[in-house]
Amino acid sequence: MLHFNNLYIDETVKNEELVKFISEKISYVNLHFVSGENHPGDGILLTRNRGAFVKPCPGQKGSVCCGYWVVEWGLGCPFGCEYCIIQNYTGAGDITLFVNWEDCKREIIELRQKVKGPIRLGTGQFGDPMALEKIYPLNTQIIDWTRDFEDFTLEIKTKSDYIEPILLAESAKHVTMAFSLNPLWLIDKLEHGAASLEERLLAARKVATQKNCSLAFHFDPIIPLANWQQSYEEVFNLMAAKLKDLRVNWISLGTFRFPKGFQEYVEKYHPDTQILSEEFYPSEDGKIRYFRPFREKIYNFAREKLEKLFPETAIYICMETPHVWERLNQAKFLSADLKKLLDARIK
Ligand code: SF4
Repeated sequence: MLHFNNLYIDETVKNEELVKFISEKISYVNLHFVSGENHPGDGILLTRNRGAFVKPCPGQKGSVCCGYWVVEWGLGCPFGCEYCIIQNYTGAGDITLFVNWEDCKREIIELRQKVKGPIRLGTGQFGDPMALEKIYPLNTQIIDWTRDFEDFTLEIKTKSDYIEPILLAESAKHVTMAFSLNPLWLIDKLEHGAASLEERLLAARKVATQKNCSLAFHFDPIIPLANWQQSYEEVFNLMAAKLKDLRVNWISLGTFRFPKGFQEYVEKYHPDTQILSEEFYPSEDGKIRYFRPFREKIYNFAREKLEKLFPETAIYICMETPHVWERLNQAKFLSADLKKLLDARIK
């Protein structure tokens, strides 16, 4: 059971059934009634989303962006990955959940009516959605709301192996179950609370074979610590062995990057971490990254291996500049090209 020191409930939602449901699924020491969306810290806040649930992915300024849509259900995550930017924004372990699901449902339906052509909608942008699904089963609902949508996929991205909602769904053909992966030793060292590599791959195989849903994988962030080529190649080979003959829609690659101020967060919560041991440089978008030629070396290495093992899968790079894409592809590659590449996988 997830435990919090404080449960904060926004006065405007205190009588909602969902608030009662969540309160009964967690344990907490103190209960407070508050006003608004601002998280007071050290706990979980249940409130209303006063803005939009459904938004275009906030692809970084200057990056090649894939035209993804995201559901902003709140913010936070019970896992404790040492490289996590979200934990940096929220305070480690703090979670905000929006409970006005009727607005979320309406906006998702309106999105399908408004957008012509394929839609890729994801719930994994603001925390690990399956890590919270037992107390906040929004993905279960979205799978159901969208089951008759044409030209659509719901991407559920996780580092857990919790797949029951997909296995129990009436239909999950419109779901892309996505697992974020890293070498086993990095998972053990950095991804506190998350499932093991074997468990994630087993869960992937299960949902694909039992529910006919598509799969996706994200290597983001790639962290090139000691023997990184060998470590990542072992994961690629393991994936190929475990997932043989299954449909993998896409695999993304992204190297570790972080905003200014992140270092203080890491030093506070993970003082012995090794993730900052490489050299980093500020990029034009304000993020701090590995040196560009080193990033390109990593992408070239991973892409070449993965393209051989998964020839039908779109292998793409997340949040990189057109310049990096152009050097990797030896041709211009812009946001519209990336959108087309990924949209083609859900037709
Ligand atoms: S699973 Fe994702 S959101 Fe959760 S701590 Fe790890 S990186 Fe952050």
